[in-house]
Amino acid sequence: MTLLSQVSADLHAHSRRSDGTEAPAGLVAAAREAGVDVVAITDHDTIEGWAEAREAAQAIGMGLVPGIEVSTRQFGFSVHILCYLPNPDFAPLFAELDRVRESRLTRAKRTVERINEDFPLPWDEVMAKAPEGATIGRPHIADALIDRGYAHDRGEAFERILRLDRGYVASYYAPDPHDAIRLIRDAGGVPVLAHPAANPQGRTPSRQVLADLRDAGLFGVELNHPENFQNGIDRLTPIVQDLGLAITGGGDWHGTGKVNRIGDGRTSGEVLERLLAEATGTDWVPPQR
Ligand code: AMP
Ligand code: FE
Ligand code: FE
Ligand code: ZN
Repeated sequence: MTLLSQVSADLHAHSRRSDGTEAPAGLVAAAREAGVDVVAITDHDTIEGWAEAREAAQAIGMGLVPGIEVSTRQFGFSVHILCYLPNPDFAPLFAELDRVRESRLTRAKRTVERINEDFPLPWDEVMAKAPEGATIGRPHIADALIDRGYAHDRGEAFERILRLDRGYVASYYAPDPHDAIRLIRDAGGVPVLAHPAANPQGRTPSRQVLADLRDAGLFGVELNHPENFQNGIDRLTPIVQDLGLAITGGGDWHGTGKVNRIGDGRTSGEVLERLLAEATGTDWVPPQR
C-alpha cells in the first residue's frame, strides 16, 4: 500500500445524493481520473451515498473517506462543517441531519413559491431534478430554472435568482456550529470548518470565533479550497497555525454542476494521517496503489 504520508487527498466532493450531478460511483471514478489517491464523499447533510461509494472505491483500489458536509448557522450566516468518519449508527447526529433535510425541503417549497410570483416554475419540475431522498438545495431549483430557459447554467441561475440578496430564497433550520462539532465528536467523527474564506463579501471568521470552535472540538480548517480568497487565506493561516488547528483541503467537486475540479484543493498525507488517528466512528477505505 501507498505510504500514507505520501498520498494526495481531496477531502470534499458531492454526488447526486445531494447537489452533485454524478452518482457516488461516478465520484470515485472521477477522483481516480483526476489522479488523487484518496477522495472524501461529503454530500450535504446525508450519508446516503456512502455504501455505493465504498463499493466503487474497493472495486478499483481508490482511497475513500466517508464524510458529510453539515449545514450549520452562526450569527445568521451559513457555516459548513465537514464531518469525516462518524459512526453511522449514532442517532443524535442523524436525528439532527434529518431535521435539517426536512427543513431544506420546506425551504425549497417556499422559495419556489416566491419564484413563481415572477417566473412560472412547477414544484414537480424541481423535484424531478433530485433523486428520491437526496438532500434538496438551491442547485436543484437552478436546474429546473435552466430547463425553463431562465438561465444557461447553475452559475447564472444563482446570479439572477438564487443569490440570497435577490429576495427569493427562504431560510432553513440549521444547528449552531458548536453543537454540530460536539455531535460529530460524540459520533467518533472529525470536524473541519469548510471554505472559511469563500464568502463573496470577504468575511472570514475572527480569531475568537475559531478559538471557540476549536474548544468545541474542531480538528481543522479547509484553507485549501478553490473558492477561498487569497487575502482571506493569508489572514487566517497564522491564526489557524497558532491555534493548533490542522490545514485541510478539497476541491468541492459537484460534477458538471460547478466549475470546481477534483484535486483543486488538497490535504497532505501527514494531515490525513492525523485525521484518521482521531476518527473512531467508521472505517475508511485505504488506497491500494
Ligand atoms: P443551498 O445548500 O441550498 O443553500 O445551496 C448552496 C449550494 O449551491 C452550494 O453547496 C453550492 O454547491 C451551490 N452553489 C452556490 N453557488 C453556486 C454557483 N454560482 N454555481 C453553482 N453552484 C453553486
Ligand atoms: Fe453544494
Ligand atoms: Fe459548502
Ligand atoms: Zn461542498
